[in-house]
Amino acid sequence: MSIKLGVALLAAGWLAGARAETAKPNIIFILADDIGYGDLGCYGATKIKTPVLDRFAKEGRRFTDAHSPAAVCTPTRYAFMTGEYAFRQQGTGILPGIAGLIVAPGRMTVPGMLKLAGYTTGVVGKWHLGLGTTPTDYNTEIKPGPLEIGFDYAWLLPATGDRTPCVWVENHRVVGLDPKDPIKLDYSVGRGSPRSFVNGIPRIGEQVGGKAALWKDDEICDVLSGKAIAFIEQNKDKPFFLYLATHDIHVPRVPNARFKGTSQCGVRGDAVQSFDWTVGQVLAALERLKLAENTLVIVTSDNGGVLDNNGPDKEHGVGSPEANNGHAFNGPLRGTKGSAYEGGTRVPFIARWPGHIPTGDSAALLCHADMLASFAALTGQKLPETAAPDSFNVLPALLGDKTGREVLVEQGGVLALRKGTWKLIPPAQGGKVKRGKKGGAAPGAQLYDLATDLGETRNVADQHPDLVESMTAQLDKIRDAGRSRP
Ligand code: CA
Repeated sequence: MSIKLGVALLAAGWLAGARAETAKPNIIFILADDIGYGDLGCYGATKIKTPVLDRFAKEGRRFTDAHSPAAVCTPTRYAFMTGEYAFRQQGTGILPGIAGLIVAPGRMTVPGMLKLAGYTTGVVGKWHLGLGTTPTDYNTEIKPGPLEIGFDYAWLLPATGDRTPCVWVENHRVVGLDPKDPIKLDYSVGRGSPRSFVNGIPRIGEQVGGKAALWKDDEICDVLSGKAIAFIEQNKDKPFFLYLATHDIHVPRVPNARFKGTSQCGVRGDAVQSFDWTVGQVLAALERLKLAENTLVIVTSDNGGVLDNNGPDKEHGVGSPEANNGHAFNGPLRGTKGSAYEGGTRVPFIARWPGHIPTGDSAALLCHADMLASFAALTGQKLPETAAPDSFNVLPALLGDKTGREVLVEQGGVLALRKGTWKLIPPAQGGKVKRGKKGGAAPGAQLYDLATDLGETRNVADQHPDLVESMTAQLDKIRDAGRSRP
């Protein structure tokens, strides 16, 4: 083949590829931390102002029955990443900062699948899926991590703000680490209730060393939005996937001074307004770069809201219900973060893709674990049979069709089951679901009809024993089968 012809073929192939790629929207998945169903103005908040998200909800589609896969951080993030319910895997509970990576390299993930579809993939923000091997050594090349499971770029808050290490990790390295001042972490200190201090704030796990690399808590929102925008700018000419996981509004809540006192709900409300600002920065960058029309943006939260404080650290939590000022952070829902009631997992979820996603509200039932199958459908990727065992393709629901899932497992302290608007919470004993004879639910099952009782106030299990039995059997089957994807 002549060089000229080869170049011509390459050019033709490149053009065809470029044309095909332009049909693929950029995807930005913004995952807030601990923001509840009632925390945003567009979901009913009045004492917290979220003008960016309120407008975003008008421009996109507001989902009213969307769920995080679990009621706490790590299992939600695991299920989002893999399309597998976290309860299927040991070791997917809330991780310390010394835990190794819990997503096995080689398995199908959201970024891995999108890479196959031709996307450049990045993660910015809170990781909390483990790094390296236990116990993580932050003084060397830290892997495996996000780069080993499908991301091209990573800027990470390794675990969560209330636990060490309090340093940024970029790709495989701690940013700004002085090798003469290595990081040593001791998780026998501060376990249970925070007792060690970094930057004057109590943390779980003691950090010695790494002084030059410490993050500044009140700059976290600025750092994350800056890194997110830089990733978008660098990849504006090709399809990209950005997973932006904010730290707002998890404890310790240290919103920048410019947000302090701006809400009517204390520091917790101020942190929600900081989150609104972060989303605004990303949306403004999309406008500036003329990418808004060709970008699917989803904003949601990793679990329900909670009115907690930071152990003895009243300053960086809420401190008191008085500060919260009567704000219903989970709206009309019962329960909080960690709970099997709807307040544990039903979260804000707004999707915008101009010209493709119709505006308005949707009552479709869906969860973050569905993103893998849905993004695969969107980008024309076929998932292997064994991949993403609990990920449903809810793309039709995202694009405006009313239907979502019929059945969803909600992972709180126990596993609960949604079937349409019915909600079953099996009886719990020692954190495990208690079984009656013949496998049915033991006395104490709770059944709610969310269509008429969204607040889960009237247990109607006694009136519907057949439904309790069939839903209990269905939950057993989903658990035992190891998969639930259609
Ligand atoms: Ca969380």
